[in-house]
Amino acid sequence: MVYSWTDKHGKQRCGTWSRGVRQAFKWGAAHAYLQKSLGRVLPKWKSTSTENGSVQLTSAIRSKHAEHTLQCLEKLRNNRLGVMESSQNCRRGARQIRLEDGSQPFVTIQTATKELLAFDLSPKFGPFMSRTRQERIARALNFDIQVPHLITEIVRVFPELATPNESWLDLIDARHHNSPENPPARAITSTFTLDFLLRPKESRAVLGSVIRDKNIRHQTRRRLIQVITGTFPTGKWLHKIGKHPTAACELCRKAYIAQHRPVPEFLPIQSMAHIQSAECLGMTDMVTKAHHMCWEELQQDLMKNSQARMKFITIHQEMSFKTLISHEDFIRELKLETELHDPLEEIWNVARDQEMSRELTEEEKTLTQPLSEQHFEDRFWRRRPDGIAINGKDKAVFVLEFTRPDDSRDDFITRTEERKNERYRSFVNALTSWLNCRPTSEEEGAWKVEQINFTTGVRGSIDEVAFSKNLAKLLVPAIKVKAIRERQARRALATLDTVLKFYRALTYGHAPSQSTVLAPGIVG
Ligand SMILES: [Zn+2]
Repeated sequence: MVYSWTDKHGKQRCGTWSRGVRQAFKWGAAHAYLQKSLGRVLPKWKSTSTENGSVQLTSAIRSKHAEHTLQCLEKLRNNRLGVMESSQNCRRGARQIRLEDGSQPFVTIQTATKELLAFDLSPKFGPFMSRTRQERIARALNFDIQVPHLITEIVRVFPELATPNESWLDLIDARHHNSPENPPARAITSTFTLDFLLRPKESRAVLGSVIRDKNIRHQTRRRLIQVITGTFPTGKWLHKIGKHPTAACELCRKAYIAQHRPVPEFLPIQSMAHIQSAECLGMTDMVTKAHHMCWEELQQDLMKNSQARMKFITIHQEMSFKTLISHEDFIRELKLETELHDPLEEIWNVARDQEMSRELTEEEKTLTQPLSEQHFEDRFWRRRPDGIAINGKDKAVFVLEFTRPDDSRDDFITRTEERKNERYRSFVNALTSWLNCRPTSEEEGAWKVEQINFTTGVRGSIDEVAFSKNLAKLLVPAIKVKAIRERQARRALATLDTVLKFYRALTYGHAPSQSTVLAPGIVG
């Protein structure tokens, strides 16, 4: 018996029973499930749709279109919807369509769009979410599925509707990513887990390969699945399934007692995001360590793979701006012609206005006496970024920042971005103008100081596009980017496991060892 199938790259394959055929079955089953889940998106869309760009198109789809998929088609075929007065049609940009019975109704672009959407949503013509319209029509024809004559006519007469560059999955992605300020309250698909797994270009493949890898300890992989599915036994989950009287964070309570501070009436809820953040008093040290574990090795990796002229000055230890400015490696790269007199004062003179107009921190707001200039200057020089890279040849300085935020929502990058940029803005601006005011050796061009933010989600989400862009700036060859990103995603998952083990030890009273040993097997 010979099987023939289309693989996930759209290539036609055939062969007798083999591993490949079995894989194709598995992939097909998963794909069918995916289609079914994504089909549930539409009614929800109705409640969250917005009126901008490509999303406008999709907001026109009301759930009734999903329900009465082919009704519209029937109507148009009966020639009732399509016929209009020709003068009106010219105004509305209508075009003529020849139907099977030989009649030639005018159809406006709006009607044509509606019909195509109805076609998109009909399961009869195969999966629609991950294919563009044209690919879907081609696939249907390939499988001997009769595509309505009307649809092929619409596609012929309205070529601009025939080849949207985006599949539905892309549209959902756009919808999902375009509104961080107005996130949907409910899962976009059927569950938050599926939402998470379907977010494109976020290194999910690494997650899949870790969960499947039989060489990694079973317990590690089980914990990972618990985190992804939101069933890891945090206080919140245990409370939800009735195993715990309250969802409040027990670790925070213990920390208050240990520090002899009064326990507040309302403790934070112990969610996964809470125990992975420094907000949880019991986990603060561990979370800080986790940040360093993820960042230090990434920085090493960047240095190893970047071109030699990019110098990572903080590779061995973080340093404050004050230390950095007088650091010999930094000075050497500047290639100054004259001796530096008092760089700290010169830079501060440039930075003063911007730094002093920054918003005060919560701590500063509680101070009673007015803040002196010295206070702001100290604050300015004390700030320490996660890394500094300098490239004297191309006259570029990079302030590197690393964050390991909760990535259950897809705005995990943008949420922290502005705050991080704001923190170093005064330094970046002051250093730029200071460097460009100094006479340097013969090289042409102006100095450029830029901040680069690296974000690796707690569950290993890394924005593939942003990551590649960052690495290109640091002169890492494009060919090495994928391997570095995958290593980083694995590192994040290993770190997650270490943090969870620590949490468990702290909660159930085993001796907690703040081990920095990563979960064996994941990073190798
Ligand atoms: Zn807590």
